[in-house]
Amino acid sequence: TMTELAFQRVVMETSLRMALEEKQFVVYYQPQVDGTTDKLIGMEALVRWQHPNMGLVSPAKFIPLAESTGMIVALDRFVMKTAMTQIAKWYKDGLTPGVLAMNLAIKQLQQTDFIEMFKGLMKETGCKAEWIELEVTEGQIMTNPENAIKILTQISDIGIELAIDDFGTGYSSLAYLKKLPIDKLKIDQAFVRDLPDDEEDASIAKAVIALAKSLNLRVIAEGVESKEQRNFLVENGCENIQGYYYSKPIPADAFEVLLKSGFIF
Ligand code: C2E
Ligand code: CA
Ligand code: CA
Repeated sequence: TMTELAFQRVVMETSLRMALEEKQFVVYYQPQVDGTTDKLIGMEALVRWQHPNMGLVSPAKFIPLAESTGMIVALDRFVMKTAMTQIAKWYKDGLTPGVLAMNLAIKQLQQTDFIEMFKGLMKETGCKAEWIELEVTEGQIMTNPENAIKILTQISDIGIELAIDDFGTGYSSLAYLKKLPIDKLKIDQAFVRDLPDDEEDASIAKAVIALAKSLNLRVIAEGVESKEQRNFLVENGCENIQGYYYSKPIPADAFEVLLKSGFIF
């Protein structure tokens, strides 16, 4: 089994490398909505692998490998360039897509040229800082918090908002939370799934919302699938909502249809 696993890994790694060269990756967009008005406030860019034989492969299947091999750096640069080009075009066309949230792998931050590269991308795509938000997971920040604080501060200094992704799952220390230049907490879907009936999850969700308010941070919940979940979160002060209740992640052309129709749910 060991050899078979190792073999599978090599096969996967080789095809991932080829996929990068052959541009088999596509970016999907999932709406982020103000739950009090049902109006669009932005979107999260999520990558998919359009494999010639396997079809659409979910990131859960290849992001971990891309991270451990370092290929995530090239992959995320592709995702960023694609999504930033897209949102700039929507603004130019007079549409109002809101803020584009993108996932930032910590490996990216360890590249000494990250800030320069990112500024270059903004210039090249014509994307303004206030259109962009970057999401970093709590777990990734906590692998090297001092370094994370340093680079995230540089990102924040150019006017880009930062969100902590999967909040509540990564043992973050409150002392670091205060030091990080973050703007937003993203309540992990693990705490949203069993709302509003599960008392423990309801308490956790409320506690995260209270923590965000007291630290002057905004808060968004992900993985919201039902009206009951949406209502519970909104009533408890988490107005920003992302999840299948509003829409699954969809390709750019489908998102454009939503934008042009005025985004009515
Ligand atoms: P994430 O950043 O926490 O993204 C949210 C995930 O939850 C997405 O899965 C999304 O499709 C899914 N989701 C959204 N709403 C719902 C819902 O109502 N119910 C359920 N059950 N799921 C929902 P996805 O697209 O499969 O991505 C998985 C993870 O892969 C992401 O988790 C993120 O950590 C990573 N990822 C995706 N795209 C990128 C990327 O371009 N770069 C990097 N570095 N990571 C990425
Ligand atoms: Ca995310
Ligand atoms: Ca998340």
